[in-house]
Formats: sequence, structure tokens, C-alpha cells
Amino acid sequence: MMDEYDSRLMERALGAARSAIQNGENPIGCVLAVDGKVVAIGETRVACGGPACHGENSMIECLGHRIWSVASNAVLYSTLEPCLMCIGACINAGITKIYYGMDAVDGGGYALGAINAGLTNKLIIHGPTAHSQVVRLFQEYLTISRNEGGIQYARSLLAFHDTFHCKINKTYCKPYI
Ligand SMILES: [Zn+2]
Repeated sequence: MMDEYDSRLMERALGAARSAIQNGENPIGCVLAVDGKVVAIGETRVACGGPACHGENSMIECLGHRIWSVASNAVLYSTLEPCLMCIGACINAGITKIYYGMDAVDGGGYALGAINAGLTNKLIIHGPTAHSQVVRLFQEYLTISRNEGGIQYARSLLAFHDTFHCKINKTYCKPYI
């Protein structure tokens, strides 16, 4: 469960997602915190940079080897369930806790994280923790975006949640260790 502390950090991630909209991107943002202090902020850059330019992946790449010295106390807050690539980057970086706002339609990496957690006992993933706020951001994005690929992604994400949200939302917390 998120406490007030975590909620504030998720709010920062939501801010990064709002910034992504301003840059013509889907509203996906993230924050990495160590001992409650923000050490990096990321937002998606897929529209301008291509498929690997996700906020989490770019953030970890940007931190480079510095991440290893703080990873055991680092917590990732991401507005959307991190994808397989980004969960993989988090695992390699040694991040031990992830909170995400909304489940991803496809390509969500939760299962990979769960497998890793089962093997190593090191990773905890909680989500969805900010579903309605993230839905609103995607709806806002759809009213202003002209990026066909981005629009398609946002629409499929929202359609999925219209259908399955009730079931998914019951699984608020998913500890695997
Ligand atoms: Zn990703």
C-alpha cells in the first residue's frame, strides 16, 4: 500500500506525465526516489525518439553506474505499469520496489517482475495505485494529440480498462515476496 509519502512521489510522476503531454507524447512519467528524495525524473519520448525511449529505461540509462550505489533503497514510481523492457532495466539496476499508477494493456512487465521476485526475493511491485488520475491524463491527451500512433495506443488502453477495470482494480496490491 502507498502511504502519504509514496502518494506525493506518485504525484511527481503524474507531473512528469503532464509534461509528456506538453511535448506531444502519451502521458507516461516516472520518478526514482532514494530515501524519499527524487534522484531522477523520466517521461516517455516514444513519439520523437522511438520505441525504446520510455521514461524508466531512459532514466536508468542516464543514471548509468550511479544507480548501483543507491538501488537497494531506490523506489520507482511510474504512472503506467512499466513494460517488459523497463522492468528488465529495473531488475538489472537493482531497484527493489516499484509503484505504478495504471495497468498497461499489453506489454506490461508485471509478470516478469513477479518471476524475478519469485527467484530472487528482491522485487516488490504495487499497482494500480492512481488509476483514475492516469485515465484522466490519457483522456486529456486524446483531446489534443494529432499523433496517430499515440492516439491508437491511448484509445486501446482506455478501452481495455473500460472493459476490465473492475476486475483489475480488486488486485490493488501485488506483493510477490
Ligand atoms: Zn517501458
